[in-house]
Amino acid sequence: MSSIIQLLPDHVANQIAAGEVVQRPASVVKELLENAVDAGATDIKLIIKDAGKSLVQVIDNGKGMSVTDSRLCFERHATSKIRLAEDLFSLSTKGFRGEALASIAAIAHVEMKTRQDQDELGTQLVIEGSKFITQDVAVLPKGTSFSVKNLFFNIPARRNFLKSDTVEHRHILDEFQRVALAHANIHFTMYHNGSEMFNLPQSNFRQRIVNIFSGKTNEKLVPIQESTEIVGIQGFVSKPEFAKKNRGEQFFFVNDRFIKSGYLHHAIMAAYEGLLKDGAQPSYFIYLNVPPNTIDINIHPTKTEIKFDDEHALYAILRSAVKHSLGQFNVAPVLDFDR
Ligand code: ADP
Ligand code: MG
Repeated sequence: MSSIIQLLPDHVANQIAAGEVVQRPASVVKELLENAVDAGATDIKLIIKDAGKSLVQVIDNGKGMSVTDSRLCFERHATSKIRLAEDLFSLSTKGFRGEALASIAAIAHVEMKTRQDQDELGTQLVIEGSKFITQDVAVLPKGTSFSVKNLFFNIPARRNFLKSDTVEHRHILDEFQRVALAHANIHFTMYHNGSEMFNLPQSNFRQRIVNIFSGKTNEKLVPIQESTEIVGIQGFVSKPEFAKKNRGEQFFFVNDRFIKSGYLHHAIMAAYEGLLKDGAQPSYFIYLNVPPNTIDINIHPTKTEIKFDDEHALYAILRSAVKHSLGQFNVAPVLDFDR
């Protein structure tokens, strides 16, 4: 009898895991931006070339990494963010799987520069297809920079599967906007092919929304505010007369994390009952704060879906808060689409 089972070598396992974490350049953008936020940065720059196909770079002024950590961060399941399974129920960070960097480094050429505040010198290293190529001591600003090039260089099928620059760029914009909307207190800039696309100063939620979606947005917004034991709600919904024919600016954030929820969307639509023409879509920016032990973020690898303990109560509270605000702002029914 011969045994045939073998453990996959790390670089193979990483490449397989990468398929889940990294679907396109926008996935790299999301992971690097979230890491920068988790590192406590107050200033984050996103630089992309050719819709991320040639370059995705994120530069932050966060806490940086030690020499040891600057290598360890590329190991699979290597994370500074949780220690025990229980920690999943008290998460305050975006990351926790310790998979992103290992995955990205498995399928791209990555250059990292990092320095901690207390260190005089930093570390600069290059890793390609999970192999460390160079590592040097260097004079660097405080914080971390990741440059990701040649994404999917060793998975041609994936590379060929990428969509046009327009489509990939749209996905990157979506990720950038989600993180920027969730963290109004961080200064974000974004450059595409050398030109500045966004420069978002540190501000509040309202100002951040206006800075991203143009000054005209301001007059459309009705504030939402509610606070109960199970959820705190802040944010804005659009006055019904500004509803659109297609779903555009609709955002939910739970504990500073962008999420998708058809159920909560329904709660909002229910609050607009009688105020919108058939099929018209309001804009909304809803920030929910819930105790971390009442949600499960771990149900989806890209973490855009989460599970709430008491979804029904949340639905009711959200609906009533939105309804109340719309009523307070004396919003009368409007039946004309194009006003
Ligand atoms: P996770 O975010 O789930 O922990 P990652 O693979 O994204 O996993 O990152 C691994 C670890 O590398 C993080 O836990 C963190 O300690 C470190 N790290 C990653 N990016 C940064 C950064 N921009 N600044 C400081 N440390 C970082
Ligand atoms: Mg991460």
